[in-house]
Amino acid sequence: MPARPRALVTRFAPSPTGGLHLGHAHSALMGWRCAREAGGRFLLRIEDIDPVRCRPEYAAAILEDLRWLGLDWDGPVRVQSRHLADYRRALDRLAGDGLLYPCFCTRADIAREIAAIGHAPHGPDGALYPGTCRRLPAGERSARIAAGEPYALRLDMAAALRRAGGPLSFIERGEGRIRCDPARFGDVVLARKDIPASYHLCVTHDDASQGVTLVTRAVDLRPATDLHRLLQALLGWPAPHYRHHPLLLGADGRRLSKRDKAPTLAALREAGHSPEAVRALAMG
Ligand code: GLU
Repeated sequence: MPARPRALVTRFAPSPTGGLHLGHAHSALMGWRCAREAGGRFLLRIEDIDPVRCRPEYAAAILEDLRWLGLDWDGPVRVQSRHLADYRRALDRLAGDGLLYPCFCTRADIAREIAAIGHAPHGPDGALYPGTCRRLPAGERSARIAAGEPYALRLDMAAALRRAGGPLSFIERGEGRIRCDPARFGDVVLARKDIPASYHLCVTHDDASQGVTLVTRAVDLRPATDLHRLLQALLGWPAPHYRHHPLLLGADGRRLSKRDKAPTLAALREAGHSPEAVRALAMG
């Protein structure tokens, strides 16, 4: 009997750091349409792992905005901050495989170290970590942990690449197989001193645990996919397909984002726009 094709599962995964704007609506509509046209499932996930930047009232407003736009989602909304134990378990597995190390450095320490070296290669998340704490003697490491010094957890990239084995790639819908180069991230932080798990870890964990088969998101997150593929390989999680859509640009040709004061959906609604009109704007 031929295998039954897997039902398509997409998701929209906003971070509640402010109101949704047209760029978010574009992303949400892309995922929703892909799922609905294929008779698949569309999931909603609130990525609120950063307690400083995220607020519950923004999360509530996101749900309200999406309902107003006419989007519906399947099953309960997953709220990342309620699943910290899941992320901890994933970190423990990586640590058990010897792929993580504690990093005690402050930003100032790292800047000093980079200045001393004279240069630092840059990756998608900024300057690469020079590896200071990777080289700490085991005794010093455990003494500092025992003394209660705060630390982040970094992925030992060289060890992770060795463990992953062969080259990694992902399927970009409309383009085909794309070769990954996760080494560009260097020893990336997977748990910060103040945040128990990073975006990269949580997003990969949840796409796997929620059975997402097609990740639709803006192209500015495409570089992160290289690292996500590595985490999937290390943790034995399936690789979804990806569709990175272009950023929605304003009339002035600049990207729409919170930082650039793009109008929020709430403001457009208050100004009297109908959901249909906003959907049309969001689809460009
Ligand atoms: N939470 C991320 C953001 O709002 C998006 C995550 C994703 O789609 O992979 O930028």
